[in-house]
Amino acid sequence: MKAITLVGSTGSIGTQTLDIVTQYPDQFRIVGLAAGSNVEMLAAQIRQFRPQIAAISAAEKLPALQAALQDLDPQPILLGGEAGVIEVARYGDAETVVTGIVGCAGLLPTIAAIEAGKDIALANKETLIAGGPVVLPLVEKHGVKLLPADSEHSAIFQCLQGVPKGGLRRILLTASGGAFRDWDVERLAEVKVADALKHPNWSMGRKITVDSATLMNKGLEVIEAHFLFGLDYEDIEIVIHPQSIIHSLIELQDTSVIAQLGWPDMRLPLLYAMSWPERIYTDWERLDLVKAGNLTFREPDHQKYPCMQLAYAAGKAGGSMPAVLNAANEQAVALFLDEKIKFLDIPRSIEWVCDRHQHDNCANPSLDDILAADQWARQEVLTAIQNLANEPRIISVR
Ligand code: MG
Repeated sequence: MKAITLVGSTGSIGTQTLDIVTQYPDQFRIVGLAAGSNVEMLAAQIRQFRPQIAAISAAEKLPALQAALQDLDPQPILLGGEAGVIEVARYGDAETVVTGIVGCAGLLPTIAAIEAGKDIALANKETLIAGGPVVLPLVEKHGVKLLPADSEHSAIFQCLQGVPKGGLRRILLTASGGAFRDWDVERLAEVKVADALKHPNWSMGRKITVDSATLMNKGLEVIEAHFLFGLDYEDIEIVIHPQSIIHSLIELQDTSVIAQLGWPDMRLPLLYAMSWPERIYTDWERLDLVKAGNLTFREPDHQKYPCMQLAYAAGKAGGSMPAVLNAANEQAVALFLDEKIKFLDIPRSIEWVCDRHQHDNCANPSLDDILAADQWARQEVLTAIQNLANEPRIISVR
């Protein structure tokens, strides 16, 4: 039985992870749980899964959590604040820590888990996109595994099993195309929040669904693939595949191409990240190629979706630029979800912020440099919005 800790337990990744644990109680047990601010859901999860330790990031909600669980016997260790979440991540005999926290908040707990020698089931993109220059040396130093839980990276990771070092030539990341894949570019200016939250294939959290609509999600995945699999950006390509049946492909040195297929269901990559290297029997719906029907592919439209090129440019710039890109995106998406800015202001403000970071880009950033760049970029988005308000609505594509 594998001991698992889950940080970000009340979000989309967290609840799906716990569904898997519920479904396969002989395979997994929960050592620690950490959540952001949802006391009711976290308390119910603690009752059900009986972790040894749990934390709520919103420290002011700790008394409510304690009160909700006072009859529990034995009592778990209950902590509050970011320090509590970090303690959960490094606690006890958990072999694998599932990192389901959205955003840069996931970085410090992930580093704590790595330093405690735990494998990481990586569902938090920022860990590598912002923290790659710091996290990768730590992974090496502590001899832990980064097990991708994102569907595309899991697909690549699965295809790579058994491929010798140096065998990988190219990565083909598939993209569904997001909520607006069939919209004309002119209509994008009028996109409403509700439109952006309708993903055609995948059921995910709000932030990542907007990222899928801008295709920034795919751009961030390119950067993540670069860090995870060590290929140059020229050798990582995006292909639009509207059916989301092929979750990504790899090309080997001899031009052989290997793909991983399945219905679009986040539980499968999550399960493999949790069970690796084992393959657990499931009774989930099996892929029926005839039912899946046509699998089609087309080139990504960089005019319509400038976020992909912004991500490639930030990735190639390296240093603290990916952290800036990521933070600017998080801030811009939050403003869009609050209906403070328009859909097309997302790429415009990100480009503004990345342009301004060019001279300050830190080639070999420390964790402090990354966190400072993250903070700066969030603030700079607000400046960008004010300045761009007077400029014509044109996006330059690099
Ligand atoms: Mg993905």
